Amino acid sequence: METDPAFERAVAALRRGGLVGMPTETVYGLAALATNADAVLGIFSAKGRPSFDPLIVHVADAAQAWQVAKPDPVAERLAAACWPGPLTMVLPRRAVVPDAVTSGLETVGVRCPDHPLARALIAAVGPLAAPSANRFGCLSPTTAAAVREQLGAAVDEVLDGGPCQVGVESTVVRTGPEPVILRPGGVTAERLEAILGRAIPVADRATVAAGLPAEAPGMLASHYAPRAPLMLRDGAWPGDPDQGLLAFRGHDLPTPSGPCEVLSRSGDLHEAARNLFAALRRLDAAGVTRIVAEAVPAQGLGLAINDRLRRAAGLG
Ligand code: AMP
Ligand code: MG
Repeated sequence: METDPAFERAVAALRRGGLVGMPTETVYGLAALATNADAVLGIFSAKGRPSFDPLIVHVADAAQAWQVAKPDPVAERLAAACWPGPLTMVLPRRAVVPDAVTSGLETVGVRCPDHPLARALIAAVGPLAAPSANRFGCLSPTTAAAVREQLGAAVDEVLDGGPCQVGVESTVVRTGPEPVILRPGGVTAERLEAILGRAIPVADRATVAAGLPAEAPGMLASHYAPRAPLMLRDGAWPGDPDQGLLAFRGHDLPTPSGPCEVLSRSGDLHEAARNLFAALRRLDAAGVTRIVAEAVPAQGLGLAINDRLRRAAGLG
């Protein structure tokens, strides 16, 4: 793949401070060289992302992570067990990381993605700062086409690595002073508990806010949102054909109904996570006036799916 012309163009663009749409196993990222502050600022303007929302630095392996962040014993254990994979750790940063990446925080989020194209890019050019490759506040892209649709004009190259296999963003964990989940994501709370031998709490909004610049988007009521207003299902499904329905298993959908999306007929949360953002995109494309979504079981990847649905509904 390193001889693919698109890959070579992406490497050249990153080296000269440009932006590249990068496939990862979670969602597509909008990547720039993490050590180039000007390039990193380009990410914020391309996304319309406020400068107080810190970026995640994507690395090749734990050794490279410890060049940008200072590990502790919990971080070393989690890295050994979960990387490459959908786990971001928030750790004290080293001086090589520009303020533009961390929004001036003394901590930095680091993660080693599990996708051959992302890993090849990082191997070629070094650590990459990359948020999700969508306009700020909008649905995360899980295909190259979705990146091109929203950010095509603002990026130098979009690499097509196929549909994302996890489909929701990484789990963000702050390891110290006590481990806490700042954002549920692709590595489940159950897995973290099995690795560390104790339950890791999901931080409440106040705890997340305390570690972020004031008004950081982790704290914004609405994020990961489709164009149509989204409500969580409360009681019966509406039968109105103008409304789009987002169901988990879809066994009790009304007939007739408006546009419907089923996340996983067999009730598989992995499949549901993989389908989530593309399903919301299709409902938007169908021109529905509103989306009614049902929560999924609150276990495993269900925590991440429900978190995204709540934020899409503006419930934070
Ligand atoms: P995104 O890359 O769009 O998935 O968003 C990255 C998210 O990771 C941010 O919005 C924060 O919630 C979180 N994050 C990144 N860096 C830090 C940090 N230094 N401290 C706390 N949270 C962080
Ligand atoms: Mg994002």
